[in-house]
Amino acid sequence: RMPEPEARPGRSRLIVLAGPTAVGKGTVAAHIKEHHPELLLSVSATTRPPRPGEVDGEHYFFVDDAEFDRLVADGELLEHATVHNRHRYGTPRAPIERALADGKAVLLEIDLQGARQVRAAAPSATLVFLLPPSWDELTSRLVGRGTEDAEERARRLRTAKVELAAQGEFDFRVVNDSVADAARQVVDLIQASGR
Ligand code: 5GP
Repeated sequence: RMPEPEARPGRSRLIVLAGPTAVGKGTVAAHIKEHHPELLLSVSATTRPPRPGEVDGEHYFFVDDAEFDRLVADGELLEHATVHNRHRYGTPRAPIERALADGKAVLLEIDLQGARQVRAAAPSATLVFLLPPSWDELTSRLVGRGTEDAEERARRLRTAKVELAAQGEFDFRVVNDSVADAARQVVDLIQASGR
């Protein structure tokens, strides 16, 4: 179980970074990880196949459907969701509990459905929504990174519309104009949390 949120005044040191596809959540999270090794960046489990360069246990824990089912059945995931109507993703619970118990801040880079589940499970979590400078910029980033085919891009842009409409549910919004600036704003929010 999560540490009792009410044990700490104000917000807990659990920060969720969500936002639409291709907004640069992964890049911002990687930037934060590089500059702030004292924070735990949670590594999710997923049934998605690895992309070139992705390392098991570092970018994700790549698992098959049966193993994902087992993680869910055994209550090992803090939250889990099928993202873009396709692959399953979930946040392993144990490393987060350990880090929070040690007084470390924890950053989750997850989708909107996951953010909502974390809010329900840990109401004192801080929810941050990363916004693109504009819709046009979002679509050109998605095309530019070239990791999805046209069908997958269309699927992700449909999800992005839904996600953008939910930004009001978040505690803070950060525009990803420059990775370093956005990362700094997120780190400021992390450092202000749990105090
Ligand atoms: P990608 O396949 O591009 O790595 O990630 C696709 C989407 O899944 C992104 O929006 C990412 O934030 C989300 N995601 C990654 N890990 C998790 C997780 O553990 N839980 C949830 N709910 N979403 C995740």
